[in-house]
Amino acid sequence: MAKGEIYIKSAEEIRLLREGGKILYEILHKTAGKVRAGVSTGELNEYAEMLLAGRGVRGAFKGYHAFPAALCTSVNEACVHGIPSFDFILKEGDIIGLDFGVVYEGLITDSAITVAVGQVSSDLQHLMRTTKQALQEGIKEARVGNRVGAISAAVQKIVERQGYHCVRDLIGHGVGYEVHEAPEVHNVGKKSDGPELREGMVIAIEPITTIGDWKVRTLKDNWTVVTADGSMSAHYEHSVAITKEGPVVLTGE
Ligand code: MG
Ligand code: MG
Repeated sequence: MAKGEIYIKSAEEIRLLREGGKILYEILHKTAGKVRAGVSTGELNEYAEMLLAGRGVRGAFKGYHAFPAALCTSVNEACVHGIPSFDFILKEGDIIGLDFGVVYEGLITDSAITVAVGQVSSDLQHLMRTTKQALQEGIKEARVGNRVGAISAAVQKIVERQGYHCVRDLIGHGVGYEVHEAPEVHNVGKKSDGPELREGMVIAIEPITTIGDWKVRTLKDNWTVVTADGSMSAHYEHSVAITKEGPVVLTGE
């Protein structure tokens, strides 16, 4: 298939993606349950990898462009792609983004949540709540006949009306056969932007937000993307199928 082509999934493939998405949900939320002060991000990854092995499925991220872990762990000002480490110990008041992908029957789903470490500030709770709401409003626009930009516009509106920003350099994407497929799903844009959504498209919608400026930089580990101004960042993501009946969240419970 040509680069940039949007791969349409069959009803059977969407059914398998949903099964894989349920496994993803279970492992991601069990792993989130281990988040507490004193735990290392390496231990969280180790736990997620153990659960993957227990289910007999593979993580989608380990080995992807040589990423060394199944789980991405992005703490505080880290937006995405944080590498788990046994030396990185979580502290009370941190927030951690857990981004996770599962390969099931050859098909990939992708989802992320942000988790509070113990009691976090009300500002951070509000950022997390707003980002989660932006994801939910974006999902509502994932309908046949809308353009991808309807999702972008909905996400941007929710985030910016609370005074936060969406990271512009980090975007959602088609998913299924590959971790990243067409189309790009921007978190900022107009309803008229991008290709039209068609039945059988599967996309990962993932607002990545900041309290401060939206500009980011990559750390020397060549993976971890952090806010340039050091402000806090949150991230929520679901893989969603576009169907005649409306959006179907593949990575939910
Ligand atoms: Mg992800
Ligand atoms: Mg993604």
